[in-house]
Parts: sequence; C-alpha cells; structure tokens
Amino acid sequence: MINVNETHNPELESWVDSANDVETDFPIQNLPFGVFVDPATGAAKVGIAIGNMILDVAAARADGVIGGPADDAAAACEGATLNKLMAMGGGHWSALRAAVSSALRLDTKEGEAAKAVAGKILLSQENVSMLLPARIGDYTDFYSSIFHATNVGKMLRPDNPLMPNYKHIPIAYHGRASSIVASGGIFKRPFGQTKATDADTPSFGPSMALDYEAEIGFFVGPGNPLGQPVSLDEAEDHIFGLCLLNDWSARDIQAWEYQPLGPFLSKSFVSHVSPWVVTTEALAPFRCGSFPRPDGDPAPLPYLFTEANQDSGGFDLQIEVFISSAQMRDAGIQPHRLTLTNMRHLYWNIFQMLTHHTSNGCNIRPGDLMGTGTISGPEEGSLGSILEITKRGGEPLSLPTGEQRKFIADGDEVIMRASCEANGVRRIGLGECRAIIEGP
Ligand code: CA
Repeated sequence: MINVNETHNPELESWVDSANDVETDFPIQNLPFGVFVDPATGAAKVGIAIGNMILDVAAARADGVIGGPADDAAAACEGATLNKLMAMGGGHWSALRAAVSSALRLDTKEGEAAKAVAGKILLSQENVSMLLPARIGDYTDFYSSIFHATNVGKMLRPDNPLMPNYKHIPIAYHGRASSIVASGGIFKRPFGQTKATDADTPSFGPSMALDYEAEIGFFVGPGNPLGQPVSLDEAEDHIFGLCLLNDWSARDIQAWEYQPLGPFLSKSFVSHVSPWVVTTEALAPFRCGSFPRPDGDPAPLPYLFTEANQDSGGFDLQIEVFISSAQMRDAGIQPHRLTLTNMRHLYWNIFQMLTHHTSNGCNIRPGDLMGTGTISGPEEGSLGSILEITKRGGEPLSLPTGEQRKFIADGDEVIMRASCEANGVRRIGLGECRAIIEGP
C-alpha cells in the first residue's frame, strides 16, 4: 500500500486560487488525470485537474516546469490517452505526482517558476470537453456489494436471495468496452427484446425499465503476461486509479436475456465514466479495512486473503446519485438525491477483484477498466440503483415536483458524485459523472 507523504499534507496551498476553495474536488492534494480537447488545436491531451483549471502536462514539460525524476512519466503523457503512463507503474506515477505537487504549490521556487508561465500551461475547465481517460481494451464489471446482490436476489428468489457461490468468489461479467463514454451529453433510450410476465410471447421496443447503477471504476496500470496470475500482494501495483462509473441497465431487457449466460444487450448500449481518474496514491489517506465478514461467513480462500488486504483493502469513499427531471430543470429545482452510499460496503475489494480476475492466468492490460458492481449499503437511502429503491417499480418514488418514478424517464438527468473526507486530511473528490436520457 502507498504511504501518506508530503503531497497529502493538508496545509499545502496552490497558487491556482480555485484549488484552495474548501468546496473543490480538486485541491493540490488530489491531482487527478484526464484527457481534454485542446480548444486551440482540437488535439486530445493529458491534463491534471487543479481547482477549476487543467494543467496541460505536455506543455508543462516543454516549459521545463516538470522534469528531473518525473521526466519519463511526463513524456509518457504526450499522447491522446493515459495508457502509456498507466503502463509505467507506481514509481513513475509517484515521481510525477511529487513534481506536479511542487510545481503547483504556493510559495516555492518551483511554484514561482510555474506561475510565471501559467498562461501557457493552464486552461480553464469551463468549456473544455473531456474525453475517455484511456483507450479501454477490456471492461469487466463485478458484483461486489453483498447488499445489492441480496436485494436483487430477493426479487428473483425470495427464499434464497444470495447464490451459494457469492461469499466464496467475486462474481463478474465481461462488459462491452466500445460503448463506454465520458460523462456528459445525451443518449437515446435503448431498444430491446422483452417479455412481460403475463405475455405469451416477447416483443421488441424501447426499454421501459431503464436504471442507473452507482459504481466505482478502476483502471489497470501495468498488465500481466498471459498465464501469470497477479497475487493479492502484487495487486496494489496494478491499479492506477479510480473513477465514477454508471453502468446503465435496461431491467426489462436484462430480465428476459440474462439466463443462462448473464447480461448482454441490457448493459452494452452505453456506460458513462467520470473524466478524471483519481490515483490510488491520492486516495492513500482514505484507505480502510476490508468488509468485516459477519460470524459464520466463510474466510476467503488463501489466494484472496492476506492480513495486509484485510487491514487496508477498502476505501472510505462516499458516493451520491442525484436525479434531475426536465420539469425540475425548467423550474430551477436542485437535483434530488436518490442514493448516498460508500465504497467501504463492498464485500470484495478491488484488489481481490483484480487478483481473482487474473487467477486463471487471464492477462489484463494497461487502461483496462473494471467496475465494482452497484454499491448498495445497509442503511436507508444507500441503495445504488432505482430497481432497489422502487422495488422493481412496485413502490414509485416522488420527485420534488410531484412527478413519480418507477424507473428513469425521458428527459431525466442522472448525476453521480464521490468524495473522501477524514479528520486531519484535505477533502478530495472524483468530480461528476452525468448524462441525460432522451426518448427513442
Ligand atoms: Ca453493474
């Protein structure tokens, strides 16, 4: 596990004023990576969020603001994706983070030098479009919240909600990488084949049961050669960072197609990720123990168990989901919160997921994306999908306008946010993941 170091010092301030705002997700202690479109040239470039600005990494290197031990890592950012940097591993990521932290700091020699060329290396986030952070070769989505798995299982099998394998093996399906897009914009309600319970035959049309899934995505750093599993001890070195992930799901299509091979077209029409990847190093102060297994639950098999992973395999990361209907936006009503949950509720942590993924020798590659699965918690209000909140549409929820929702309606915008807070540490956030659904 990465130790807390000088870059996490809560006293640090930046010469970029907006980074010192207590509300920002991106203070100098965060420094998340993303890919933006340079408004001057139209080129895709690697950037680092600082307050409401973006540091252009290639420009900072060209101006001598970042160099020395971080030069190789900064050079790896001179492309249109983060894949090269992700492939380099923790030593290079740390060197780059240290150099950027020092260049953006208030009252330092490096900070003064960087501030002198601010006009060449900084852009406003406003009106800059963001792209996917990486070229995602493969996408695997897990099912690691026992609360979500139990809630969904209850709807299908009231007497036996949790499958017998659940507490032994991290469950996942292979998702579609081509339809993952960066936060923002509008997408059309998907069509698909469904069959109502009282119908004799299936029909084809727009999904009438569109749902969100509040998840955290994690990007793979260095990969592993085919045939060489990654042990749990090594898993930390293979994860670059975290983002928000909305695994949109068409529940009616899913219910008809999922047996016997799992979800297919009910998930692959689109998935959104937040554009900024918060590194595992930035999250070091917010690590927590793995999920405490209740008495009577089996211990993980040895390949999924180490003392270190038990002690610090979790992340204390709060996740919120909001909905804003077209009517709410027209009336100027603030988005309505549907979900407040926490990543610490995951029964399987991301290191166990990655280790399990490679345990048969399957190779993973830099830039691959894995999702945790819908993160539901045990408390009221902590359900990570509308399927669970409305009990599959049986108990509709009310919006501030009086509108009711069984599932997501045309014109609705779904907004996800995530952040970490702890005593004596600067709060950091993952930014937002949002999208609006429109009619077919
Ligand atoms: Ca999912």
